[in-house]
Amino acid sequence: MSDDWDVIVIGGGGAGLAAAVSAAEEGASVLLFESETELGGSTQLSAGIFTAAGTSVQAGLGIEDSAEKFFQHYMDLNQWLLAPGLIRAFCENAGPTLEWLIELGVEIPTSISGNAHQPGLAQAGVEDVWRGHVPKDQGYGLVQTLDKARRKHGIEAILGTRVQKLIKEDGRVVGVVADDIEVRAGAVVVATGGFAQNPELVDQYFPVANKAGDDLFVVAAEGSRGDHIRFAHELDMPIIGDGWGLIMPTVYFQRFHHWQSGFPPKSRIYVNQSGRRFMDEDASYAVSTGIIDQQGGYGWMIFDENARVGLAPGYADWNPERVEEEVAAGNTHRADTVEELATLIDVPVATLQATVNKWNEQLPNGRDDDYLRHRTLRNKGAVGNPDSIGTAPFYAAKILPSELVCTHAGMEIDSTAAVLGREGNPVEGLYAAGEAGAGILGLRYVGGGNAVANALTMGRIAGRNAAKFTRTSVSDAAVHSFAHA
Ligand SMILES: Cc1cc2nc3c(=O)[nH]c(=O)nc-3n(C[C@H](O)[C@H](O)[C@H](O)COP(=O)(O)OP(=O)(O)OC[C@H]3O[C@@H](n4cnc5c(N)ncnc54)[C@H](O)[C@@H]3O)c2cc1C
Repeated sequence: MSDDWDVIVIGGGGAGLAAAVSAAEEGASVLLFESETELGGSTQLSAGIFTAAGTSVQAGLGIEDSAEKFFQHYMDLNQWLLAPGLIRAFCENAGPTLEWLIELGVEIPTSISGNAHQPGLAQAGVEDVWRGHVPKDQGYGLVQTLDKARRKHGIEAILGTRVQKLIKEDGRVVGVVADDIEVRAGAVVVATGGFAQNPELVDQYFPVANKAGDDLFVVAAEGSRGDHIRFAHELDMPIIGDGWGLIMPTVYFQRFHHWQSGFPPKSRIYVNQSGRRFMDEDASYAVSTGIIDQQGGYGWMIFDENARVGLAPGYADWNPERVEEEVAAGNTHRADTVEELATLIDVPVATLQATVNKWNEQLPNGRDDDYLRHRTLRNKGAVGNPDSIGTAPFYAAKILPSELVCTHAGMEIDSTAAVLGREGNPVEGLYAAGEAGAGILGLRYVGGGNAVANALTMGRIAGRNAAKFTRTSVSDAAVHSFAHA
Protein backbone atom coordinates (compact mmCIF):
# COMPACT_ATOMS: atom_id res chain seq x y z
CA MET A 1 0.00 0.00 0.00
CA SER A 2 1.35 3.44 -0.91
CA ASP A 3 1.60 5.94 1.91
CA ASP A 4 1.25 8.88 -0.38
CA TRP A 5 -2.41 9.84 -0.79
CA ASP A 6 -3.96 13.21 -1.16
CA VAL A 7 -7.01 12.26 0.87
CA ILE A 8 -7.82 9.45 3.28
CA VAL A 9 -11.49 8.88 4.05
CA ILE A 10 -12.42 6.95 7.19
CA GLY A 11 -15.79 5.23 6.78
CA GLY A 12 -17.59 4.00 3.69
CA GLY A 13 -21.17 5.05 4.41
CA GLY A 14 -22.96 7.95 2.77
CA ALA A 15 -20.69 10.73 4.01
CA GLY A 16 -17.49 8.79 3.29
CA LEU A 17 -18.48 7.73 -0.21
CA ALA A 18 -19.65 11.26 -1.07
CA ALA A 19 -16.36 12.65 0.25
CA ALA A 20 -14.24 10.11 -1.61
CA VAL A 21 -16.00 10.59 -4.95
CA SER A 22 -15.98 14.39 -4.65
CA ALA A 23 -12.31 14.49 -3.76
CA ALA A 24 -11.53 12.27 -6.75
CA GLU A 25 -13.61 14.53 -8.99
CA GLU A 26 -11.24 17.34 -7.95
CA GLY A 27 -8.30 15.24 -9.06
CA ALA A 28 -7.18 13.94 -5.67
CA SER A 29 -5.86 10.44 -5.07
CA VAL A 30 -8.12 8.90 -2.43
CA LEU A 31 -7.93 5.91 -0.11
CA LEU A 32 -11.02 4.84 1.84
CA PHE A 33 -11.09 2.63 4.92
CA GLU A 34 -14.22 0.75 6.00
CA SER A 35 -14.31 -1.22 9.24
CA GLU A 36 -17.01 -3.65 8.10
CA THR A 37 -16.82 -6.19 5.32
CA GLU A 38 -19.12 -4.15 3.09
CA LEU A 39 -19.68 -0.50 2.37
CA GLY A 40 -22.87 1.33 3.22
CA GLY A 41 -23.20 1.82 6.98
CA SER A 42 -26.49 3.22 8.23
CA THR A 43 -26.93 4.99 4.91
CA GLN A 44 -27.45 1.65 3.22
CA LEU A 45 -30.06 0.63 5.82
CA SER A 46 -31.95 3.90 5.49
CA ALA A 47 -34.95 4.83 3.42
CA GLY A 48 -32.58 7.23 1.70
CA ILE A 49 -34.93 10.20 2.06
CA PHE A 50 -33.03 13.38 1.31
CA THR A 51 -34.27 16.78 2.47
CA ALA A 52 -33.44 19.56 0.04
CA ALA A 53 -34.88 22.81 -1.29
CA GLY A 54 -35.05 24.37 -4.73
CA THR A 55 -34.54 21.08 -6.57
CA SER A 56 -35.42 20.00 -10.09
CA VAL A 57 -37.85 17.46 -8.61
CA GLN A 58 -39.74 20.22 -6.77
CA ALA A 59 -39.64 22.45 -9.85
CA GLY A 60 -41.01 19.62 -11.98
CA LEU A 61 -43.98 19.45 -9.64
CA GLY A 62 -44.49 23.21 -9.81
CA ILE A 63 -43.29 23.72 -6.24
CA GLU A 64 -41.45 26.95 -5.53
CA ASP A 65 -38.85 26.63 -2.80
CA SER A 66 -35.50 28.08 -1.85
CA ALA A 67 -32.51 27.53 0.40
CA GLU A 68 -33.58 30.67 2.26
CA LYS A 69 -36.97 29.17 3.19
CA PHE A 70 -35.33 25.87 4.12
CA PHE A 71 -32.84 27.73 6.31
CA GLN A 72 -35.57 29.67 8.13
CA HIS A 73 -37.58 26.50 8.81
CA TYR A 74 -34.49 24.58 9.91
CA MET A 75 -33.36 27.27 12.34
CA ASP A 76 -36.83 27.91 13.76
CA LEU A 77 -37.51 24.23 14.40
CA ASN A 78 -34.14 23.96 16.11
CA GLN A 79 -34.85 27.07 18.21
CA TRP A 80 -31.79 28.80 16.70
CA LEU A 81 -29.52 26.61 18.82
CA LEU A 82 -27.36 25.86 15.77
CA ALA A 83 -24.72 28.05 14.09
CA PRO A 84 -26.57 29.95 11.35
CA GLY A 85 -23.54 30.09 9.03
CA LEU A 86 -23.14 26.34 9.03
CA ILE A 87 -26.86 25.71 8.56
CA ARG A 88 -26.98 28.27 5.77
CA ALA A 89 -24.16 26.43 3.95
CA PHE A 90 -25.95 23.12 4.44
CA CYS A 91 -29.28 24.44 3.17
CA GLU A 92 -27.60 26.04 0.15
CA ASN A 93 -25.67 22.91 -0.73
CA ALA A 94 -28.32 20.23 -0.13
CA GLY A 95 -30.14 21.03 -3.41
CA PRO A 96 -26.97 21.02 -5.57
CA THR A 97 -25.86 17.80 -3.87
CA LEU A 98 -29.16 16.17 -4.76
CA GLU A 99 -28.69 17.28 -8.40
CA TRP A 100 -25.17 15.83 -8.30
CA LEU A 101 -26.58 12.52 -7.11
CA ILE A 102 -29.15 12.56 -9.89
CA GLU A 103 -26.33 13.17 -12.40
CA LEU A 104 -24.47 10.21 -10.92
CA GLY A 105 -27.52 8.02 -11.54
CA VAL A 106 -29.84 8.28 -8.52
CA GLU A 107 -33.45 8.17 -9.66
CA ILE A 108 -36.08 10.35 -8.01
CA PRO A 109 -39.26 10.53 -10.05
CA THR A 110 -41.08 13.83 -10.45
CA SER A 111 -44.16 12.61 -8.63
CA ILE A 112 -45.81 12.98 -5.26
CA SER A 113 -44.95 10.28 -2.74
CA GLY A 114 -47.15 9.38 0.21
CA ASN A 115 -44.47 7.73 2.30
CA ALA A 116 -40.83 6.85 2.83
CA HIS A 117 -41.03 3.85 0.51
CA GLN A 118 -42.57 5.40 -2.54
CA PRO A 119 -40.02 7.18 -4.75
CA GLY A 120 -40.84 10.83 -5.38
CA LEU A 121 -41.37 13.93 -3.26
CA ALA A 122 -42.86 13.38 0.21
CA GLN A 123 -43.62 15.51 3.22
CA ALA A 124 -40.41 15.23 5.23
CA GLY A 125 -41.61 16.65 8.52
CA VAL A 126 -43.63 19.70 9.43
CA GLU A 127 -42.42 21.96 6.61
CA ASP A 128 -44.92 24.05 4.62
CA VAL A 129 -43.25 23.11 1.32
CA TRP A 130 -42.50 19.42 0.82
CA ARG A 131 -38.79 18.63 0.81
CA GLY A 132 -38.45 14.88 1.37
CA HIS A 133 -36.89 13.37 -1.75
CA VAL A 134 -37.36 9.57 -1.75
CA PRO A 135 -34.94 7.85 -4.15
CA LYS A 136 -35.62 4.66 -6.05
CA ASP A 137 -34.11 1.72 -4.14
CA GLN A 138 -33.83 3.90 -1.04
CA GLY A 139 -30.56 4.10 0.91
CA TYR A 140 -29.29 1.01 -0.85
CA GLY A 141 -29.76 2.78 -4.17
CA LEU A 142 -27.81 5.83 -2.96
CA VAL A 143 -24.91 3.67 -1.80
CA GLN A 144 -24.87 1.63 -5.00
CA THR A 145 -24.76 4.78 -7.14
CA LEU A 146 -21.97 6.32 -5.08
CA ASP A 147 -20.05 3.07 -5.05
CA LYS A 148 -20.30 2.84 -8.83
CA ALA A 149 -18.80 6.36 -9.03
CA ARG A 150 -16.09 5.31 -6.57
CA ARG A 151 -15.12 2.40 -8.78
CA LYS A 152 -15.21 4.57 -11.88
CA HIS A 153 -12.66 6.90 -10.26
CA GLY A 154 -10.51 3.93 -9.24
CA ILE A 155 -10.75 4.78 -5.55
CA GLU A 156 -9.40 1.96 -3.46
CA ALA A 157 -11.65 0.87 -0.58
CA ILE A 158 -9.97 -1.18 2.14
CA LEU A 159 -12.75 -3.21 3.72
CA GLY A 160 -12.73 -4.90 7.12
CA THR A 161 -10.16 -2.40 8.42
CA ARG A 162 -11.07 -0.22 11.37
CA VAL A 163 -8.91 2.89 11.54
CA GLN A 164 -7.35 3.03 15.00
CA LYS A 165 -6.21 6.64 15.29
CA LEU A 166 -5.41 9.89 13.58
CA ILE A 167 -1.81 11.04 13.25
CA LYS A 168 -1.19 14.70 14.09
CA GLU A 169 2.20 16.34 13.67
CA ASP A 170 3.09 20.00 14.14
CA GLY A 171 -0.57 20.91 14.58
CA ARG A 172 -1.65 19.22 11.36
CA VAL A 173 -3.38 15.90 10.75
CA VAL A 174 -1.15 13.96 8.36
CA GLY A 175 -2.62 10.48 8.26
CA VAL A 176 -4.08 7.55 10.13
CA VAL A 177 -3.10 4.28 11.75
CA ALA A 178 -4.90 1.17 10.54
CA ASP A 179 -3.83 -2.43 11.14
CA ASP A 180 -1.00 -0.86 13.14
CA ILE A 181 0.35 0.70 9.94
CA GLU A 182 0.77 4.44 9.46
CA VAL A 183 -0.74 5.73 6.23
CA ARG A 184 -0.13 9.38 5.33
CA ALA A 185 -2.12 11.88 3.34
CA GLY A 186 -2.61 15.59 2.73
CA ALA A 187 -5.98 15.54 4.47
CA VAL A 188 -8.19 13.12 6.34
CA VAL A 189 -12.00 13.00 6.30
CA VAL A 190 -13.64 11.39 9.33
CA ALA A 191 -16.93 9.84 8.20
CA THR A 192 -17.30 7.07 10.76
CA GLY A 193 -21.03 7.56 11.41
CA GLY A 194 -22.56 7.79 14.88
CA PHE A 195 -22.26 5.93 18.20
CA ALA A 196 -25.71 4.36 18.57
CA GLN A 197 -24.15 0.89 18.86
CA ASN A 198 -21.84 1.93 21.71
CA PRO A 199 -23.81 1.84 25.01
CA GLU A 200 -21.11 3.70 26.99
CA LEU A 201 -21.13 6.58 24.54
CA VAL A 202 -24.95 6.60 24.50
CA ASP A 203 -24.83 6.89 28.32
CA GLN A 204 -22.43 9.78 28.03
CA TYR A 205 -23.68 11.75 25.03
CA PHE A 206 -27.31 10.76 24.52
CA PRO A 207 -28.51 9.49 27.91
CA VAL A 208 -32.14 10.41 27.19
CA ALA A 209 -32.26 7.24 25.04
CA ASN A 210 -31.92 5.20 28.23
CA LYS A 211 -35.32 6.42 29.42
CA ALA A 212 -36.68 3.62 27.21
CA GLY A 213 -35.02 1.06 29.51
CA ASP A 214 -35.36 -2.50 28.21
CA ASP A 215 -37.57 -1.25 25.39
CA LEU A 216 -34.65 0.55 23.73
CA PHE A 217 -33.56 -0.94 20.42
CA VAL A 218 -30.93 0.30 17.99
CA VAL A 219 -31.38 0.20 14.24
CA ALA A 220 -28.18 2.01 13.27
CA ALA A 221 -25.49 -0.01 11.47
CA GLU A 222 -23.08 -2.19 13.44
CA GLY A 223 -20.17 0.11 12.64
CA SER A 224 -21.78 3.01 14.56
CA ARG A 225 -19.30 2.68 17.43
CA GLY A 226 -18.39 6.32 17.86
CA ASP A 227 -14.76 6.15 16.79
CA HIS A 228 -14.93 9.85 15.90
CA ILE A 229 -15.42 10.63 19.59
CA ARG A 230 -12.33 8.65 20.49
CA PHE A 231 -10.33 10.40 17.74
CA ALA A 232 -11.47 13.77 19.10
CA HIS A 233 -10.56 12.88 22.69
CA GLU A 234 -7.14 11.63 21.68
CA LEU A 235 -6.34 14.92 19.96
CA ASP A 236 -8.07 17.05 22.61
CA MET A 237 -10.73 18.38 20.26
CA PRO A 238 -14.22 19.44 21.37
CA ILE A 239 -17.40 17.40 20.96
CA ILE A 240 -20.65 19.26 20.30
CA GLY A 241 -24.26 18.14 19.83
CA ASP A 242 -24.17 16.53 23.27
CA GLY A 243 -27.63 15.24 24.25
CA TRP A 244 -29.07 15.23 20.73
CA GLY A 245 -30.03 12.35 18.48
CA LEU A 246 -33.01 10.72 16.85
CA ILE A 247 -35.00 8.31 18.95
CA MET A 248 -38.34 7.54 17.38
CA PRO A 249 -41.53 6.60 19.23
CA THR A 250 -42.65 3.01 18.79
CA VAL A 251 -44.81 0.61 20.74
CA TYR A 252 -42.75 -1.04 23.50
CA PHE A 253 -42.68 -4.47 21.82
CA GLN A 254 -41.25 -3.28 18.52
CA ARG A 255 -37.73 -4.56 17.95
CA PHE A 256 -36.88 -3.53 14.39
CA HIS A 257 -37.25 -0.58 12.05
CA HIS A 258 -40.66 -0.61 10.37
CA TRP A 259 -39.18 -2.32 7.30
CA GLN A 260 -39.31 -5.48 9.39
CA SER A 261 -41.55 -4.64 12.32
CA GLY A 262 -44.48 -3.42 10.26
CA PHE A 263 -46.98 -0.71 11.08
CA PRO A 264 -49.48 -0.19 13.88
CA PRO A 265 -53.18 -0.10 12.93
CA LYS A 266 -54.47 3.07 11.27
CA SER A 267 -57.47 3.04 13.64
CA ARG A 268 -55.65 3.80 16.85
CA ILE A 269 -55.37 6.64 19.31
CA TYR A 270 -52.66 7.69 21.72
CA VAL A 271 -53.81 8.85 25.13
CA ASN A 272 -51.87 10.28 28.04
CA GLN A 273 -52.15 9.42 31.71
CA SER A 274 -55.28 11.58 31.91
CA GLY A 275 -56.96 9.43 29.26
CA ARG A 276 -56.91 12.29 26.72
CA ARG A 277 -55.57 12.28 23.19
CA PHE A 278 -52.57 14.60 22.97
CA MET A 279 -51.30 14.42 19.39
CA ASP A 280 -51.86 13.56 15.76
CA GLU A 281 -50.92 9.87 15.91
CA ASP A 282 -49.28 10.17 12.48
CA ALA A 283 -47.28 13.30 13.31
CA SER A 284 -43.79 13.34 11.86
CA TYR A 285 -40.93 12.30 14.10
CA ALA A 286 -39.69 15.84 13.57
CA VAL A 287 -42.05 16.60 16.44
CA SER A 288 -43.62 13.39 17.76
CA THR A 289 -40.80 12.42 20.13
CA GLY A 290 -40.87 15.86 21.73
CA ILE A 291 -44.65 15.73 22.11
CA ILE A 292 -44.56 12.33 23.83
CA ASP A 293 -41.76 13.56 26.08
CA GLN A 294 -44.08 16.29 27.32
CA GLN A 295 -46.59 13.64 28.46
CA GLY A 296 -44.23 12.14 31.00
CA GLY A 297 -42.31 10.18 28.38
CA TYR A 298 -44.98 7.75 27.23
CA GLY A 299 -48.54 7.34 26.05
CA TRP A 300 -50.98 4.47 25.58
CA MET A 301 -51.86 3.22 22.13
CA ILE A 302 -55.53 2.15 22.15
CA PHE A 303 -57.06 -0.01 19.42
CA ASP A 304 -59.75 -2.65 19.06
CA GLU A 305 -60.12 -6.22 17.87
CA ASN A 306 -60.91 -5.23 14.27
CA ALA A 307 -57.66 -3.30 14.15
CA ARG A 308 -55.69 -6.26 15.55
CA VAL A 309 -57.01 -8.85 13.14
CA GLY A 310 -56.69 -6.42 10.23
CA LEU A 311 -52.92 -5.99 10.64
CA ALA A 312 -50.99 -6.53 7.41
CA PRO A 313 -49.39 -10.00 7.23
CA GLY A 314 -45.71 -10.76 6.98
CA TYR A 315 -44.21 -8.40 9.54
CA ALA A 316 -42.13 -9.35 12.57
CA ASP A 317 -43.82 -7.31 15.29
CA TRP A 318 -47.04 -5.78 14.07
CA ASN A 319 -49.05 -8.93 13.37
CA PRO A 320 -52.16 -10.33 15.09
CA GLU A 321 -50.32 -13.21 16.77
CA ARG A 322 -47.60 -11.02 18.24
CA VAL A 323 -50.23 -8.81 19.89
CA GLU A 324 -51.82 -11.96 21.35
CA GLU A 325 -48.45 -13.07 22.71
CA GLU A 326 -47.93 -9.70 24.34
CA VAL A 327 -51.35 -9.94 25.97
CA ALA A 328 -50.58 -13.45 27.19
CA ALA A 329 -47.29 -12.22 28.64
CA GLY A 330 -49.21 -9.53 30.52
CA ASN A 331 -47.48 -6.65 28.76
CA THR A 332 -50.23 -5.45 26.43
CA HIS A 333 -53.54 -4.88 28.22
CA ARG A 334 -56.83 -6.30 26.93
CA ALA A 335 -60.38 -5.75 28.19
CA ASP A 336 -63.94 -6.36 27.07
CA THR A 337 -64.94 -2.74 27.57
CA VAL A 338 -63.26 0.63 27.29
CA GLU A 339 -64.10 1.22 30.98
CA GLU A 340 -62.27 -1.93 32.05
CA LEU A 341 -59.32 -1.03 29.85
CA ALA A 342 -59.13 2.40 31.51
CA THR A 343 -58.96 0.73 34.90
CA LEU A 344 -56.23 -1.64 33.74
CA ILE A 345 -54.00 1.23 32.57
CA ASP A 346 -54.97 3.48 35.45
CA VAL A 347 -56.49 6.38 33.51
CA PRO A 348 -59.83 8.06 34.37
CA VAL A 349 -62.65 5.84 33.08
CA ALA A 350 -65.01 8.61 31.98
CA THR A 351 -62.23 10.47 30.18
CA LEU A 352 -61.05 7.47 28.17
CA GLN A 353 -64.63 6.66 27.20
CA ALA A 354 -65.18 10.28 26.12
CA THR A 355 -61.93 10.24 24.14
CA VAL A 356 -62.95 7.07 22.28
CA ASN A 357 -66.44 8.47 21.66
CA LYS A 358 -65.01 11.67 20.21
CA TRP A 359 -62.71 9.68 17.90
CA ASN A 360 -65.66 7.57 16.74
CA GLU A 361 -67.68 10.67 15.91
CA GLN A 362 -64.86 12.37 14.02
CA LEU A 363 -62.10 10.33 12.32
CA PRO A 364 -64.36 7.71 10.73
CA ASN A 365 -66.10 10.74 9.21
CA GLY A 366 -62.84 12.17 7.93
CA ARG A 367 -62.23 14.97 10.42
CA ASP A 368 -60.10 15.51 13.47
CA ASP A 369 -60.96 18.92 14.89
CA ASP A 370 -58.36 18.87 17.64
CA TYR A 371 -55.29 17.35 16.00
CA LEU A 372 -56.00 17.60 12.25
CA ARG A 373 -54.86 14.05 11.66
CA HIS A 374 -57.07 13.92 8.57
CA ARG A 375 -54.56 16.31 6.91
CA THR A 376 -51.62 14.07 7.70
CA LEU A 377 -53.45 11.01 6.46
CA ARG A 378 -54.29 12.82 3.24
CA ASN A 379 -50.63 13.87 2.79
CA LYS A 380 -49.63 10.25 3.26
CA GLY A 381 -52.02 9.27 0.48
CA ALA A 382 -54.17 7.18 2.86
CA VAL A 383 -57.19 5.65 1.18
CA GLY A 384 -60.42 5.76 3.22
CA ASN A 385 -61.00 7.03 6.74
CA PRO A 386 -59.89 5.18 9.86
CA ASP A 387 -62.54 2.93 11.43
CA SER A 388 -64.23 3.56 14.71
CA ILE A 389 -62.84 1.94 17.83
CA GLY A 390 -65.80 -0.13 18.93
CA THR A 391 -65.29 -3.86 18.51
CA ALA A 392 -64.34 -5.69 21.71
CA PRO A 393 -61.93 -6.65 23.03
CA PHE A 394 -59.95 -3.43 23.36
CA TYR A 395 -56.17 -3.17 23.65
CA ALA A 396 -53.70 -0.78 25.26
CA ALA A 397 -49.95 -0.89 24.60
CA LYS A 398 -47.36 1.59 25.80
CA ILE A 399 -45.80 3.86 23.19
CA LEU A 400 -42.56 5.65 23.95
CA PRO A 401 -39.40 6.94 22.23
CA SER A 402 -37.44 3.68 21.93
CA GLU A 403 -36.02 3.23 18.40
CA LEU A 404 -32.53 4.71 18.34
CA VAL A 405 -31.79 5.72 14.76
CA CYS A 406 -28.87 8.13 14.82
CA THR A 407 -26.78 10.29 17.11
CA HIS A 408 -25.79 13.92 16.70
CA ALA A 409 -22.78 14.47 18.96
CA GLY A 410 -19.48 14.65 17.15
CA MET A 411 -16.53 16.70 16.02
CA GLU A 412 -17.41 20.35 15.58
CA ILE A 413 -17.27 21.41 11.93
CA ASP A 414 -17.54 24.72 10.13
CA SER A 415 -19.29 25.41 6.85
CA THR A 416 -16.34 23.96 4.91
CA ALA A 417 -16.63 20.70 6.91
CA ALA A 418 -13.26 21.49 8.52
CA VAL A 419 -12.98 20.16 12.07
CA LEU A 420 -12.55 22.89 14.68
CA GLY A 421 -10.12 22.72 17.56
CA ARG A 422 -10.76 24.01 21.06
CA GLU A 423 -9.89 27.57 20.13
CA GLY A 424 -12.47 27.48 17.33
CA ASN A 425 -10.05 27.39 14.41
CA PRO A 426 -9.86 24.60 11.80
CA VAL A 427 -7.45 21.77 12.59
CA GLU A 428 -5.28 21.67 9.50
CA GLY A 429 -5.83 18.67 7.30
CA LEU A 430 -8.91 17.39 9.12
CA TYR A 431 -12.50 17.26 7.90
CA ALA A 432 -15.58 15.45 9.18
CA ALA A 433 -19.04 14.76 7.82
CA GLY A 434 -22.22 12.81 8.48
CA GLU A 435 -23.02 11.85 12.05
CA ALA A 436 -19.31 12.16 12.89
CA GLY A 437 -19.25 15.86 11.97
CA ALA A 438 -21.55 17.70 14.35
CA GLY A 439 -23.39 20.99 14.10
CA ILE A 440 -26.10 20.33 11.55
CA LEU A 441 -28.17 17.59 13.17
CA GLY A 442 -29.71 19.41 16.09
CA LEU A 443 -32.18 19.28 18.92
CA ARG A 444 -35.00 18.66 16.44
CA TYR A 445 -34.66 16.33 13.50
CA VAL A 446 -36.38 18.34 10.76
CA GLY A 447 -37.95 15.19 9.34
CA GLY A 448 -37.23 12.28 7.06
CA GLY A 449 -34.15 13.12 5.04
CA ASN A 450 -32.35 15.33 7.55
CA ALA A 451 -29.51 12.90 8.26
CA VAL A 452 -28.94 11.52 4.76
CA ALA A 453 -28.90 15.06 3.37
CA ASN A 454 -26.42 16.01 6.09
CA ALA A 455 -24.18 13.02 5.36
CA LEU A 456 -24.06 13.42 1.60
CA THR A 457 -24.02 17.22 1.46
CA MET A 458 -21.33 17.70 4.09
CA GLY A 459 -19.47 14.63 2.78
CA ARG A 460 -19.34 16.24 -0.64
CA ILE A 461 -18.16 19.56 0.83
CA ALA A 462 -15.53 17.75 2.92
CA GLY A 463 -14.22 15.80 -0.06
CA ARG A 464 -13.97 18.84 -2.31
CA ASN A 465 -12.13 20.86 0.33
CA ALA A 466 -9.89 18.01 1.44
CA ALA A 467 -8.82 17.59 -2.19
CA LYS A 468 -7.34 21.09 -2.13
CA PHE A 469 -5.18 20.10 0.79
CA THR A 470 -2.96 17.68 -1.06
CA ARG A 471 0.04 16.08 0.51
CA THR A 472 2.33 17.87 -1.93
CA SER A 473 0.86 21.31 -1.18
CA VAL A 474 0.57 21.17 2.57
CA SER A 475 2.38 24.44 3.03
CA ASP A 476 -0.42 26.23 1.19
CA ALA A 477 -2.88 24.94 3.76
CA ALA A 478 -6.52 24.43 2.86
CA VAL A 479 -8.43 26.66 0.49
CA HIS A 480 -11.95 26.56 1.84
CA SER A 481 -13.89 27.57 -1.20
CA PHE A 482 -16.71 25.05 -1.29
CA ALA A 483 -18.85 26.24 1.59
CA HIS A 484 -21.27 27.90 -0.77
CA ALA A 485 -22.49 26.26 -3.93
C1 LIG B 1 -32.99 2.06 9.53
C2 LIG B 1 -32.58 3.48 9.29
C3 LIG B 1 -33.36 4.29 8.46
C4 LIG B 1 -32.99 5.61 8.24
N1 LIG B 1 -33.69 6.36 7.32
C5 LIG B 1 -33.25 7.61 7.03
C6 LIG B 1 -33.82 8.35 5.97
O1 LIG B 1 -34.65 7.85 5.20
N2 LIG B 1 -33.39 9.62 5.76
C7 LIG B 1 -32.44 10.20 6.54
O2 LIG B 1 -32.13 11.36 6.35
N3 LIG B 1 -31.82 9.49 7.52
C8 LIG B 1 -32.18 8.22 7.74
N4 LIG B 1 -31.51 7.48 8.68
C9 LIG B 1 -30.29 8.06 9.29
C10 LIG B 1 -29.17 8.12 8.24
O3 LIG B 1 -29.21 6.96 7.45
C11 LIG B 1 -27.79 8.25 8.87
O4 LIG B 1 -27.74 9.27 9.84
C12 LIG B 1 -26.74 8.61 7.80
O5 LIG B 1 -26.90 7.79 6.67
C13 LIG B 1 -25.35 8.47 8.38
O6 LIG B 1 -24.40 8.55 7.37
P1 LIG B 1 -22.86 8.48 7.78
O7 LIG B 1 -22.08 8.41 6.53
O8 LIG B 1 -22.56 9.54 8.76
O9 LIG B 1 -22.73 7.11 8.58
P2 LIG B 1 -22.82 5.63 8.04
O10 LIG B 1 -23.66 5.54 6.81
O11 LIG B 1 -23.22 4.77 9.18
O12 LIG B 1 -21.34 5.30 7.60
C14 LIG B 1 -20.29 5.25 8.55
C15 LIG B 1 -19.36 4.15 8.12
O13 LIG B 1 -18.13 4.25 8.83
C16 LIG B 1 -17.71 2.93 9.17
N5 LIG B 1 -16.75 3.05 10.28
C17 LIG B 1 -17.00 3.37 11.57
N6 LIG B 1 -15.86 3.45 12.28
C18 LIG B 1 -14.84 3.20 11.41
C19 LIG B 1 -13.41 3.14 11.54
N7 LIG B 1 -12.79 3.39 12.71
N8 LIG B 1 -12.68 2.83 10.44
C20 LIG B 1 -13.28 2.58 9.25
N9 LIG B 1 -14.62 2.62 9.07
C21 LIG B 1 -15.39 2.94 10.14
C22 LIG B 1 -18.99 2.23 9.51
O14 LIG B 1 -18.87 0.84 9.48
C23 LIG B 1 -19.93 2.76 8.43
O15 LIG B 1 -19.92 1.98 7.27
C24 LIG B 1 -31.84 6.15 8.89
C25 LIG B 1 -31.06 5.33 9.70
C26 LIG B 1 -31.41 4.00 9.88
C27 LIG B 1 -30.53 3.15 10.73
